[in-house]
Amino acid sequence: MNLNKTALMAALDSVKFPLTGAGLVTAGKVAKVTTCDGHVAVTLDVAGLAAAEATGLGQACEAAIADVAARAKAPLVGLVVESADGRTLVRRTGPPAAAAAATPVAATAASAAPAAAKPAASGGASASLQAAAPSLPGVKHVIAVGAGKGGVGKSTVSVNLAVGLALRGHAVGIVDGDIYGPSLPTMLGLESMQANLRGNMLQPFYVHGVKAMTIGKLVDPEKPLIWRGPMAHGAFKQLVDQTEWGELDYLIIDLPPGTGDVSLTMAQQLRLTGAVVVCTPQKVAQDDAIRALRMFQQLGIPVLGVVENMSTFIADDISPPREYDIFGRGGAQLMAQRVGVPFLGAVPITIKLRQNSDEGNPSANFHGQTPLAQALDALVVNLESQVALAQMTTGARRPELTIS
Ligand code: ADP
Repeated sequence: MNLNKTALMAALDSVKFPLTGAGLVTAGKVAKVTTCDGHVAVTLDVAGLAAAEATGLGQACEAAIADVAARAKAPLVGLVVESADGRTLVRRTGPPAAAAAATPVAATAASAAPAAAKPAASGGASASLQAAAPSLPGVKHVIAVGAGKGGVGKSTVSVNLAVGLALRGHAVGIVDGDIYGPSLPTMLGLESMQANLRGNMLQPFYVHGVKAMTIGKLVDPEKPLIWRGPMAHGAFKQLVDQTEWGELDYLIIDLPPGTGDVSLTMAQQLRLTGAVVVCTPQKVAQDDAIRALRMFQQLGIPVLGVVENMSTFIADDISPPREYDIFGRGGAQLMAQRVGVPFLGAVPITIKLRQNSDEGNPSANFHGQTPLAQALDALVVNLESQVALAQMTTGARRPELTIS
């Protein structure tokens, strides 16, 4: 049995807010609760509490959640309680074995954690290469966006995730890993801009609240790139390393399509928080996406989730708007369930999304309460949650590499 949100909310409401004595949920102090595969993340509004009181409240939440998990015989693999202003009040991480020593609840977790939450057993040498890959200084989370094949909307999703995360107040960068077919110059409207060097560092373009770098602004866009593998790998690494990103919460990498060696090498060059796989709903697209998923898993990269793009077509020139499931809505979602990875959400086909992409104006996708804006918002919120959960899982399974 797994912990569900209802049980967690009940547990949190049994904890009283010190200033009023009301249950935390009733008092509106629970800003966010997410749970997946035995990991729980809670965000509390602790305004008005002293630091020690806030920590005490976090610990009370930990006890209540551990209690509900024990009674439900549900695994509690990891727990983070944070304040809405970003302070960590409680963090229970560590390998399941270590957690097992701490509480009997975690012991259940160690044995019952589902396969999807475990490190890729089959990754072997490749997985350990990712574990040893260097982190990017100043960047909290590097997220690769991949797809089984081209044309499914991988760049579109990458750009909109970046802009959506920025709209939610994060410091975000995006880089074209699609060295042979960079889309960012068009999709972000960089065409009239010039790349700038300071010292030997490239200055990222700052557009739509996002810092961006793309090979497309450094080479002639009309000339085909005929680099062989190692040159492409070198170019990507240089692009990432020699861009002055500053402090970032998220760096999104728009990977090349497929499971080619560029993706493989990239995964070994940079420590990733996880990968997002974009897929359209059709069966043939799912098969390709599963190959991409397996590639990430074999490389030891957590799959943060699947995005179903072109899920449904919304014809909004008629009233009320009508939806057509051209490609078979829900196919990618079912695939995600079948292979045991999270589903982040579905993006409809809309003329606006295509137009805004062609015009380099992704911010416009988020305007108003349109189905597109709502779908993109939901995607971004789910990604944030999965990153929080992956952080706990990753913390539990990646050893620190010490070279002496
Ligand atoms: P990929 O990176 O997978 O090759 P792109 O993101 O470049 O795919 O998308 C291919 C084309 O499809 C682009 O013209 C893009 O604007 C369009 N497109 C992608 N997703 C959608 C969508 N949901 N609705 C409308 N057009 C879309």
